[in-house]
Amino acid sequence: MEKFSKKIVVRMAPSPTGNLHIGTARTTLYNYLFAKRNGGKFILRVEDTDTERSTKEFEQNQLDGLAWLGLTYDEFFRQSERTDVYVSYVKELIESGHAYISKEVVTEVGQRTEVIRFKNPNKKVSFEDIVRGTVEFDTTDLGDFVIARSIEEPLYHLAVVIDDHEMGVTHIIRGEDHISNTPRQILIQEAISAQRPIYAHIPLILDSDRKKLSKRKHGAAVWIDTYKLEGYAPSALLNFFAFLGWNPGGEREVYSLAEMTDIFDLERVQKGSAIFDIEKLKWFNKEHLKLLPEETIKKEIKNAVEHSQKYLSKHWNLTGEILTKSWKIMFERISNWKELSELVDAGEFDYLFEQPALTTSLLFWKDEKDALITKNHLVKVRDILSNLSDDNFSAENLKASIWDYATESGRGSVLWPLRTALSGKEKSPDPFVLGEILGKKETLGRIAFAEEKLS
Ligand code: GLU
Repeated sequence: MEKFSKKIVVRMAPSPTGNLHIGTARTTLYNYLFAKRNGGKFILRVEDTDTERSTKEFEQNQLDGLAWLGLTYDEFFRQSERTDVYVSYVKELIESGHAYISKEVVTEVGQRTEVIRFKNPNKKVSFEDIVRGTVEFDTTDLGDFVIARSIEEPLYHLAVVIDDHEMGVTHIIRGEDHISNTPRQILIQEAISAQRPIYAHIPLILDSDRKKLSKRKHGAAVWIDTYKLEGYAPSALLNFFAFLGWNPGGEREVYSLAEMTDIFDLERVQKGSAIFDIEKLKWFNKEHLKLLPEETIKKEIKNAVEHSQKYLSKHWNLTGEILTKSWKIMFERISNWKELSELVDAGEFDYLFEQPALTTSLLFWKDEKDALITKNHLVKVRDILSNLSDDNFSAENLKASIWDYATESGRGSVLWPLRTALSGKEKSPDPFVLGEILGKKETLGRIAFAEEKLS
């Protein structure tokens, strides 16, 4: 159901002065959701009037990032291609006395001798903000601010107001850091007889120390690319970003983009700042990865393992049966794909591919540092397991056949050496699961290898 009688038009207006930033992605998402929810139009407008800081590479990075996230737009503009439009407005503003060419006292090298200033009516401006309520400013302090460097070179406030007007923007959803820009923009709107859009200034994203996320302080962690490289799912990032400042109420947290589109509401955007919590992002990512089809998960796991240095240097092979049997234990350990490559490099999954090196101390259960006793348990277990056929070598059957003996002789005393013999690790999945993954031949071989270590 559409709430607004007029067709909603929103815009995202990134300046291509850096790579796609988390904050930009999140504001884009809010605009996208609001437009889709209300059957509106979503415009993407590249604000590249600052020719010194804007680059084509940054623009491309931002567009690629938004495409990767799946945030599509209905119309696209580039301010650098709209100079004619701005020129005519500047001329009009000068003719109507709302702006004037100002002779400047030059105090710095490179400063212009002439700029275009807005004739400030020096009045109180107040506006309703969907998130923040009534906001009031006295514009007197702003003086006659500069709106263009020259007739052809509009500055941000002017270009943004002209474009929002010309493009019929009904709602401006942007970061709270733009609140202080709004009074100037309202004055310009009034001077060009533009309708005032509805504002929604959304809370900033802060780090755990409540500091603004910035490239200087947080480095690559503020870029979308970083999360792409680390193997986060776009759907998880979108879900996480949406919840930085908004939630639909209730307990449920995991939503797809389409599901959020059905329920997004600016009225539920919070006023207080949002804290970026990487652990929460990992949680969202895991929840979204779990929703992927099993075949996709297996493919990603294979890809992540094959991208680890260790895998490449060892010439291991992760195909067929071993992948089918082991993907779950790898998937359990991670919240993004890059973590899997790191675990493989750290040796966490060596046991899937090769006989682990063993030490007797690893094989001993707690204080039971007796090689003969430990070895006898292994001999017994190997004996029991040799009676299971290849086809019946499932975790369930392994457990059923060893359980009684383990219970009689002490579970730790039997299962610890068995598990460490199979994995070579203090921590690993249980020995039954390991046995199933490794198969009968390899399992019995590894137990025999451990027995030799204890001889
Ligand atoms: N181009 C401005 C920026 O990147 C945004 C302008 C706006 O949303 O009004 O911060």
